[in-house]
Amino acid sequence: RDAAFESDGEVAVELDGVTKRYGETTAVDDVTLRVREGEFFTLVGPSGCGKTTTLRLIAGFEEPTSGTVRFAGASVAGVPPEDRDVGVVFQSYALFPHMTVGENVAYGLNFADPPEGVTRDERVAELLDLVDLPDAADRDPESLSGGQQQRVAMARALAPGPDVLLLDEPMSALDARLRERLRAQVKRIQSELDITTIYVTHDQEEALAISDRVAVMNDGAPEQVAAPRTVYRQPATRFVAEFVGDNNVFAGTVTDASAAGELAVEVDGGDETLRVRTDDDPGAAPSVGDRIAFCVRPENLRVAGADGGPRDAAAPAGENALRATVASAEFLGETTRVTLDWGDRELVVRVVDPIDGAVAVGFDPEDAHVIGVESR
Ligand code: ATP
Repeated sequence: RDAAFESDGEVAVELDGVTKRYGETTAVDDVTLRVREGEFFTLVGPSGCGKTTTLRLIAGFEEPTSGTVRFAGASVAGVPPEDRDVGVVFQSYALFPHMTVGENVAYGLNFADPPEGVTRDERVAELLDLVDLPDAADRDPESLSGGQQQRVAMARALAPGPDVLLLDEPMSALDARLRERLRAQVKRIQSELDITTIYVTHDQEEALAISDRVAVMNDGAPEQVAAPRTVYRQPATRFVAEFVGDNNVFAGTVTDASAAGELAVEVDGGDETLRVRTDDDPGAAPSVGDRIAFCVRPENLRVAGADGGPRDAAAPAGENALRATVASAEFLGETTRVTLDWGDRELVVRVVDPIDGAVAVGFDPEDAHVIGVESR
């Protein structure tokens, strides 16, 4: 992974074995990660997993208990935030209410000169253009919507032309619709400036939508650092599989490993044997008696007896087939998310038309992703 990383661009920000303790609490636990220049990198995870502390360590609001933070290869130990060339946007917009929007943005320049040949006013206008608020300079921040205020906060953070933009849950105070719009704007601004951006959110959907890579954090450290697609399709751990979306995660015991690249697994909590394809990693190939965990995404489960499921068909030959019963359904608009009882276990599927009662569920062994193996 490291070799691939090196060929993919310069390292802008690096954490090397970084730990942060507060008394007995380890907020950040021996984290090593590298963020590429120009990358949109997101720290995502549940409340308390250490996202904000990690960001504060990068910003310089906190110093690590141990380990090193580097910017462009050089340690920033002891360098205060204002000398780190970072722009920071927090959850609360924290605009100054007694200043106009333009003055707020200009305030961002207080500690820095505008780029050469550009006046302060020109720089402010340029930034308000960038965040798509060209006519807002004379307005009172409180007359703006939450999303607009957050864009002003971004303009203010970007005013001095920082190397790195740090965003801590900048959208969490906004309603869902506004959040979706703002995240498209944040992404556009980031790619227009090609600025290295480190983003903190607890919202996995937002993280997948906006990022080049995400670090899924649990208990003070990332469990997986990868592109959104990889995290979604090939979660490295059970935690990642369950956090990133609606994965069906099962554990069981391998009963047959004689076919190349395929396992038969007796799933816990019932007597069904399911077949799962293994990834092409001979070193990690499980053998009979091993305990494994695997996951199947809801959209990969086909439900027969339901009209117009995602791929509506009874399980074709070669597929795993099982019987389950509808327990509950949530109408989401485009699809309905249905929870099925399967013995003592639960399955989540997505269907277009309502289903009820007993159903047959099928899935291709190919769509089962093995996430963990414990040898006998
Ligand atoms: P949230 O999404 O709720 O903000 P988070 O993932 O950002 O959570 P952090 O705020 O980084 O998590 O906190 C990680 C852990 O460190 C938590 O257990 C928190 O209580 C603790 N912690 C953070 N800051 C401090 C502090 N200044 N003093 C003591 N404990 C702290």
